[in-house]
Amino acid sequence: MTTTPASEPSAITPRLRVAPSPTGDPHVGTAYMALFNLAFVRKHGGRFVLRVEDTDRARFREDSEAQLFDTLDWLGLNWDEGPDVGGPYAPYRQSERLDTYAPYIERLIESGHAYYCWCSSERLRELRAEQERSKSPVTGYDRLCHGMTKEQRAELPGFSETPVVRMLIPDDVPLEFDDLIRGRLKAPRPDDQVIRKADGFPTYHMAVVVDDHEMGITHVVRGEEWISSTPKHLLLYRWLGLPEPKFAHMPLLRNANKSKISKRKNPEARLTWFREQGYLPEALVNFLALLGYPPIVETDENGERTEREVFSFREFSEGFEWSKINPVGPIFDLTKLDWLNGVYIRELPVNELAARLLPHLIDEGAVPPNPTMAELARLESVTALIQPRLTHLTKAGALVAPFYVPDDAVPVDEDARAQLKDDAPQVVDAAIEALEGVSTAPGDVFGEGRGWTHENIEAALRSALVEGKGLKPKFAFGPVRTAISGKKVSPPLFESMQILGRDATLTRLKTFRASL
Ligand code: GLU
Repeated sequence: MTTTPASEPSAITPRLRVAPSPTGDPHVGTAYMALFNLAFVRKHGGRFVLRVEDTDRARFREDSEAQLFDTLDWLGLNWDEGPDVGGPYAPYRQSERLDTYAPYIERLIESGHAYYCWCSSERLRELRAEQERSKSPVTGYDRLCHGMTKEQRAELPGFSETPVVRMLIPDDVPLEFDDLIRGRLKAPRPDDQVIRKADGFPTYHMAVVVDDHEMGITHVVRGEEWISSTPKHLLLYRWLGLPEPKFAHMPLLRNANKSKISKRKNPEARLTWFREQGYLPEALVNFLALLGYPPIVETDENGERTEREVFSFREFSEGFEWSKINPVGPIFDLTKLDWLNGVYIRELPVNELAARLLPHLIDEGAVPPNPTMAELARLESVTALIQPRLTHLTKAGALVAPFYVPDDAVPVDEDARAQLKDDAPQVVDAAIEALEGVSTAPGDVFGEGRGWTHENIEAALRSALVEGKGLKPKFAFGPVRTAISGKKVSPPLFESMQILGRDATLTRLKTFRASL
């Protein structure tokens, strides 16, 4: 017989959100926040919301939202609700929710927690300058408008027709709160914060509280720069009689010199940069997770504790705990990312790596725009050659391009030609003669096993040039490499010749010989 448990408290499904502002290229910090939010959501079977906070109309950039969707999607940081996919709490763009905020702001004004302020921006500027000049211990807004009607205020200087609405911060404003990462926190006393601007739009502080409540957000996870704003938000929750969510403030990402990563100074602050540079999304996700999160600890077969820095999003999410986050500003170390990128490149199956390289190669003109099946098959063979040492997807172009040029017109780089010695013509002649003795078919039985394989190509060239002519391998194969690829550096030479085939190889050598 089965019994139904009497009254098990139903666990509330966690609902978390990332709330970027579309003010230009998405910041890498947005992906960082999304990643940690999502790790918790996926571990607990919750919902992840993408909300676009576009109330700052002066800094709004039209194309920024599309870039945001694109880059987060590229990283696999997918949201369950958002402006593009919709959801039960739509709309998910704050500019489309002005009607939602209005009654909340009205309630605050009616209850005396908020007031109109008609001070012009010039007056506020002068007030600030004066406070700085006199080193006044009192800073912030002086509440000139508090308790006044519009008519009363209009009699005084520094009046502006369209008012803002401000919070009336009480003397006993609670400044302490619990943070899931940092424990008990204390923030400085806030100023009479503007909650509705003169253009009628709410400020971030108002909109964030209303939306987090309306959208049922249970955990507010955001950057540490918002710690000082939290007391304002807590007041708004209290005044409006709304339950508070839990808070977690993630550490800020920093440069090696401890400065904050900024889009103005650091190209790597732009999320689009990583894609342009040829990083794999899974490497970037792993890298971002390690910024502030420890490696995975395992016990090896000898019972020794080992740490593993390479892990997937799934592993990260499965073991996720807020308490493991180190709140001390993690250093954004690109050398580490480069290393991780190499690790992930080598883990990819060759055909998958070739598919990821293709758009970059077409962009660079290394591979023709609509490659044929044969050209794609060749790309897979070349990819296998370059995979062991490739660090960025964008570094493949120079190595791959020589495989897609006409055999009788291989462009030869200046530096490759400059390093040739006087004996280059004789070396190339000897190479041609040696290779003519290697037959066409790979593994050819008729040629006594002297088919067109890289082993046979290498054996033929070594015996003709190194043993036959007594050349050092570097001088023997340098001119051959130049003839084949036109470059000083190329993928492994004998394997390259195998991929090109016998005819193409000989044409390349002969054309080059004629140019000497
Ligand atoms: N719109 C804010 C930002 O861009 C979001 C802060 C928050 O998550 O509360 O940083």
